[in-house]
Formats: sequence, structure tokens, C-alpha cells
Amino acid sequence: MTLFEQTTILVREAGAEFGSGLAIVTSLQREGVVMVDLAMNALGGIRVMTIDTGRMPDGTLEMIGLIEARYGIQIERIRPDDAEVAAMVEVHGRDLFYDSVPKRSLCCNIRKVWPLARALKNVDAYFTGLRRGQSETRKDVAVFERSSTPVKINALAEWSAQDVAEYTAALGLPENRLYSEGYTSIGCDPCTRPTKPGEDERAGRWWWETDEARECGLHFSPSGKVERTADVLLREILEKVRANA
Ligand code: SF4
Repeated sequence: MTLFEQTTILVREAGAEFGSGLAIVTSLQREGVVMVDLAMNALGGIRVMTIDTGRMPDGTLEMIGLIEARYGIQIERIRPDDAEVAAMVEVHGRDLFYDSVPKRSLCCNIRKVWPLARALKNVDAYFTGLRRGQSETRKDVAVFERSSTPVKINALAEWSAQDVAEYTAALGLPENRLYSEGYTSIGCDPCTRPTKPGEDERAGRWWWETDEARECGLHFSPSGKVERTADVLLREILEKVRANA
């Protein structure tokens, strides 16, 4: 059985188990488009969601229209809370992520993690485009992650970059124009650069963090309690949102 056939069976099984509670969350990279194509063919339709952080590159925003036109679907855009973004920018500036790992984490939480968590409240399970070959941190990713709700299904976990590229080319799927400029993983515009030959596929994401990521990021509160710096920053922003309301 081919990888394509195995994945199609998996997608159908997920469809049978989760029905209309099933969705795809995609950043519209090649893997996400393959996932949309597989699910549309195997299931006849599926909710497709993408996070529009407000800092996406034009190439990614263009992909929304291309995918909607090809499959006749409406992609749901998940957006951050305006008040949270405004408070964060007011306190730390728009490009705070270059300052430190905790500030980058704050931005990712406010623009991506929290909006996604809110959007997934009415979803039972969702497909991702994660692959084991994308990076060292993803090498053990499971196909089904059932330990939390909603269930996360990494249906392409066993696919290689070449499998994805071949499927994309064979079916003439739309692809983000940034791939032709040397990008191998595409996230927010200010946090992604093209990769160099031999580099990890995701080496262009938050490339400036190499040294800072080794910091423990711990902080002592006025009461003497140990807290992660990222948590302190998040709490400050929520207090600011309340003060601005
Ligand atoms: S990737 Fe960069 S711009 Fe996007 S949410 Fe994270 S820190 Fe913010």
C-alpha cells in the first residue's frame, strides 16, 4: 500500500470517528495544502481554518484566495484579540520578539496560541501538517495525539519533504511563492527567513534565538515566588487590557 493510500484510509477513519467535529488547521504551507486536498477528496468537504496573526507574509495571504477558489470553500480566519495586541504593542513595541525569548513567546501566545485555543472550542479533532522530518523536535511526533482535547491528528507524520513536493507537483497544487525564494518553512513575515543548503528545514524560523533559547527564563515575583518570565509578561498584558477597557 502506498503512503498516499495509507493516509487516505486514515483520513476516512478520522472522518467516520469525528464527523462534522473534524477540521484542518493550516498555515497554508505545502503540507497544509496536501492535507486539504487529501481531505476534500476522501471526505468531500471539511472545515479549514488558518491563523491570521496580522504579521503574515503576502505570499501566505495570497494562498487563502487560491485555496478557496480551487476547492470552492471558505477558509475560516482565526484572528488575535485586538485589545490584547494593542496592549502588547503599547508596552513592548510591535517587533518585541527580537528582544528576548520570553517576549517572542508572549507575541506567539497573543497572536497565535490563544486565538487558536479559542477557535478550537467547537472542534473535536483537527488535522495538522506536521512531519517527523521537519526538525529534531518533531522527530517523534505521533499520528494521533489523544491526550488532550481536541484530538490532534498529524496525518502526514510519516511523509518526507520529497513526498509532499511530489504530491504537490503531480496534482498541480497551489504553493506559496516564498518557496521559490529559498524558504523551506513559512511563518510570520518578520520571524522567517530563507534557509541555507544543509540547514534544518525550520532553521529560518526565529533564527536569531540560537543563544537566547538556552536561558532558563525564570523570574522572582515581589512575593518571592518563582515564575517564568513569559508568564509574568502575559500577566502584565492582561492587566493592561483590563486597564484599557
Ligand atoms: S511568529 Fe513572530 S510575529 Fe508571529 S506571533 Fe510569533 S513572535 Fe509574533
